[in-house]
Amino acid sequence: SARTSADLIRAEEPVLAHNYHPLPVVVARAEGTWVEDVEGRRYLDMLAGYSALNFGHRHPALIEAAHRQLDQLTLTSRAFHNDKLAEFAERLAELTGLDMVLPMNTGAEAVESGIKVARKWAYDVKGVPADQATIVVAAENFHGRTTTIVSFSTDETARAGFGPFTPGFRIVPYNDLAALEAAVDETTAAVLIEPIQGEAGVIIPDAGYLAGVRELTRRKGCLFIADEIQSGLGRTGRTLAVEHEGVVPDVLLLGKALGGGIVPVSAVVANREVLGVLRPGEHGSTFGGNPLAAAVGTAVVELLETGEFQRRATELGVVLRDGLTELVGKGVVGFRSRGLWAGVDVDPAIGTGREISERLMREGVLAKDTHGSTIRLAPPLTITADELRSALGTLEKVLTLG
Ligand code: PLP
Repeated sequence: SARTSADLIRAEEPVLAHNYHPLPVVVARAEGTWVEDVEGRRYLDMLAGYSALNFGHRHPALIEAAHRQLDQLTLTSRAFHNDKLAEFAERLAELTGLDMVLPMNTGAEAVESGIKVARKWAYDVKGVPADQATIVVAAENFHGRTTTIVSFSTDETARAGFGPFTPGFRIVPYNDLAALEAAVDETTAAVLIEPIQGEAGVIIPDAGYLAGVRELTRRKGCLFIADEIQSGLGRTGRTLAVEHEGVVPDVLLLGKALGGGIVPVSAVVANREVLGVLRPGEHGSTFGGNPLAAAVGTAVVELLETGEFQRRATELGVVLRDGLTELVGKGVVGFRSRGLWAGVDVDPAIGTGREISERLMREGVLAKDTHGSTIRLAPPLTITADELRSALGTLEKVLTLG
């Protein structure tokens, strides 16, 4: 007979690495905003695959693009051209207002690739002496899990036991232009930041910070790399979170929703002066730019070109903000939100973020804690106002149950 959720959770323990601590729900099917577990219980998805599912589960246009491509061609490697990659790059460049695309797969790969490109630019264009390039990053950052990326993490759990680390990074407090100014010098290739720090708890910098980073990097002659892997592609009510300050970075890192929740698709997007530094053989990926990824990625860009998802995030963002405002003092001690994205600090006396997430799960809402007592809410941008209000009602219920 078919294995139950409990069977499947138990079965994972001896055979899967223990690098995650998932909520005890085993999802078997999903559509739109809803997921269903092995036993047929339904849950509202308020996490959306850490924003990889901005368009919801199995968006019809994305599924159709994937099916169509599965019937034609799935992989060539970059040893050959494929007939889908040019359009993907053209449309993504057009959407972001930049010139060129370096297609990769996961977010961490896009970050790694952005670091390599910035260093190469520093040596070839800026004239930094060999192996002297520095990159300035923010404390409490999250950019992924590779050895180089955890080298500049400030999260000891992410780092401890994984050294030796890659040198060449300087860490300054987030949202502090004076500290950034002091850290940037003639060796600096780039400033790498998240326009909103997602994993840190949806930390939104003060108005003027991103514009200040843009001004500072331009004045000092280094690149501004914006990691929009979680903040980008509609989540905050704009295609890119940097647009809220009218900022165009030199290098844009995209991932997650770029693959529509179907395939891993990430990209480094930049102007020719920067991405043009890469020559054949200097960088690559077997799967980066594969025709299935390109077809799905193009369909994602098409959805974003309509502006519908950005508009929904803006409008529903008001519902989210108003609903959370109501909960302040009723189990919520504070929150930060932009568009359909919020970090909610719950009163630690009521429970840890983990405990609150488990209670939400039992009430049919899937969300996840980030740090301590912070719950991140990031539903699919396809969620309805009623569904969103219902999720907020469930949050109120679990917070007042105590
Ligand atoms: N950068 C940011 C801002 C992220 O939020 C994440 C993932 O959460 C990553 C990079 C890493 O992406 P991936 O898990 O696809 O490697």
